[in-house]
Amino acid sequence: MIAEHLQDVVSTLREGVTLVAVSKFHSVEEMMEAYRAGQRVFGENRPQELSVKVPQMPSDVVWHFIGHLQTNKLGKVLPYASMVESVDSLHLLSAVDTWCRARGKVMDILLELHLGAEETKGGFSDSEIVGVLDRASDYLGVRFCGLMGMATNTSDEQVVRAEFRRIAALFASLREAHPELSAFRELSIGMSGDYRIAMEEGSTIVRVGTAIFGERL
Ligand SMILES: *Cc1c(COP(=O)(O)O)cnc(C)c1O
Repeated sequence: MIAEHLQDVVSTLREGVTLVAVSKFHSVEEMMEAYRAGQRVFGENRPQELSVKVPQMPSDVVWHFIGHLQTNKLGKVLPYASMVESVDSLHLLSAVDTWCRARGKVMDILLELHLGAEETKGGFSDSEIVGVLDRASDYLGVRFCGLMGMATNTSDEQVVRAEFRRIAALFASLREAHPELSAFRELSIGMSGDYRIAMEEGSTIVRVGTAIFGERL
């Protein structure tokens, strides 16, 4: 089942788009089904779950952290993650930078843009992101790889598309303003319900859970 669902998703990916298989709440056995079907990039959103799964999965798995990260949990995430997609505040950015510098590491990160209407969702505003990238060279412990966003959870495709257009436009203008940031080339938008729309709007990373692994219990 999982292998077939994965194949269905993979077959719809546009060229150059990276699929992050979001395995949160799913077991290592389920993840191994996807692994054996060829999937290598997995996404987790809880530090504890990530740190427990890492030693149980093959060492060539590439882990993306995609959830809210508290600064007292960095030690459960930064040793394992190839990318933290969900850097959503200056406080977290500084903490990740400091943690990595102290260990001679450089972490690939995406800045999460606050998209959509939901008040509870975190993330930077456009102007905050502009400000961060203007001081990008201050952050020696992180590599700015692009933007991440989550659209409003709605079946109204026009709303979702408009939000993806907004983040894609910001992404394009930042790339133009910062040609020196050569790694700044990833736009992580799109989940199970909207990744096809996201790819039409320029996504380079899609984060798909339910469409691969089924409902989370
Ligand atoms: C859970 C989650 C996803 C995957 O959601 P699905 O609808 O199951 O595909 C993607 N991105 C983030 C940040 C998530 O927390």
